[in-house]
Amino acid sequence: MRGREPKPSFSDVGGNPAIDFVNTRPMLDGELQERLADYSALVRWAEEFGILDPSEGARLRSESNDIEAGSGLAEARALRETLRSDLPGLAAGKPVSRELATLVNRALAKRPGTMSLRNEDGHSGLEFSGPVKTPSHLVAMVAYRMADLLSGGQLSRIKRCEGTKCVLWFVDTTRNGSRHWCRMDRCGARAKAAAYYARRKS
Ligand SMILES: [Zn+2]
Repeated sequence: MRGREPKPSFSDVGGNPAIDFVNTRPMLDGELQERLADYSALVRWAEEFGILDPSEGARLRSESNDIEAGSGLAEARALRETLRSDLPGLAAGKPVSRELATLVNRALAKRPGTMSLRNEDGHSGLEFSGPVKTPSHLVAMVAYRMADLLSGGQLSRIKRCEGTKCVLWFVDTTRNGSRHWCRMDRCGARAKAAAYYARRKS
């Protein structure tokens, strides 16, 4: 976890920033929570996931006007909800919906960034970079993370946590595809306890 926050405030169980972005609307006590409650939360999320450096985050907070910030937040949430509704199909091998592709491309078009080839840990990939100066640049960086997920080879590894009241998604990177839970010490432990009590009852 990167960023200035001493304690991360957003879930990072997804194993991919676009999936973790979808997970900013988790279920708690049977109710959906909005973790991107305002524009400042969106900036903080991007800082925690290394999408913004601290100086970019500070500038976005102090220089963005309210109208641009509000429409950036609305656009980011629309991307999130459209990706969420695509995830079950994507995990089952279906193509990206036209609606999601349109939203991602619209956001990417607003970003005057550069593409470059990066080499990291023995892997090469395309990187989209450049200073993030406005709310629409920030939304474009979120869209870029989504485009990266949608064009990569991990779609068949996307799963929803099997916890009965959980709505979190993750990329299963275990070798044999054996991950079932967002967190073993949360939904996994709950399911094990439920199975234990069910066995004792019967
Ligand atoms: Zn879960």
